[in-house]
Amino acid sequence: MIILRTLSETVDKLTEIKKTGHQIGLVPTMGALHKGHVSLLDCCKSENDISVVSIFVNPTQFNDPEDLEKYPRNQEKDLQVLSEAGCDIAFVPDEKTIYPVPDNRIFDFGNLDKIMEGSSRPGHFNGVAQVVSRLFDIIKPDRAYFGEKDIQQIAIIRKMTALLKLPVIIRACPTLRENDGLAMSSRNVLLNPRQRKSAVVISQTLKMALYKKELSVGRLKQWVIDTINLNDDLEVEYFEIVDSCNLQPVQNRDKPEIVVIGCIAVRAGNVRLIDNVFFHNFVST
Ligand code: AMP
Repeated sequence: MIILRTLSETVDKLTEIKKTGHQIGLVPTMGALHKGHVSLLDCCKSENDISVVSIFVNPTQFNDPEDLEKYPRNQEKDLQVLSEAGCDIAFVPDEKTIYPVPDNRIFDFGNLDKIMEGSSRPGHFNGVAQVVSRLFDIIKPDRAYFGEKDIQQIAIIRKMTALLKLPVIIRACPTLRENDGLAMSSRNVLLNPRQRKSAVVISQTLKMALYKKELSVGRLKQWVIDTINLNDDLEVEYFEIVDSCNLQPVQNRDKPEIVVIGCIAVRAGNVRLIDNVFFHNFVST
């Protein structure tokens, strides 16, 4: 595996690869890698000649300085994981490489960043768009891979790619889970043993919600929130039921043609966990 850190060595290497006609896939990450990240790399490897994984904890997407400071970092282990998983190139830039000058771009995402993660974490998606567009600019991938766990992020990146008219195909990959159902996340290591046990309630409740067909949208939302909040270690920040096409809130169970997603953010102490579930048949019984 090749490890690239500086702008010039990265641009030189990627230009050389492009010249040979090879297809390049990119998996952007913030490190603290787990099997979910490796599953994105596997998707990437299956569709491209060269797979690049970037590791960069992007400061512009953190609205909480404490969250940025405590974000888990372990570069040595990450590089070992990538090498063992068959990654071709690890791109590990520093902040000056990504932002040689401050990035003051403000993206207009319309309604997309006004709800859920957007309203809970002001500025977060603008920072995500900044870093991903910069990574696209440097790597110039043919395809880029993102996890459905961060479903709103995928919508934002698709919008950013369209706004900037970038020739990159955005691929969405399924969420990988621990054996008990908890969505894998770099933040899971920050949970204490009791919180870790409690956190399973999140995915369990989302799964049960699939079968609560007799409940209206409003009642279903309240049921999910109340069920999770019953656990002393957990506090729901939001639970929203949205149309998978535009991520706008759904009010009724009357459209069999749409796929609906239930998206949730939960606090376990200082740790923020997100997850979602797809309702492929949301009409009431
Ligand atoms: P992160 O390093 O947390 O910013 O995540 C990097 C990429 O990995 C994002 O596209 C995430 O959506 C994706 N990802 C994170 N957790 C999972 C998971 N459990 N399963 C699949 N993809 C994931």
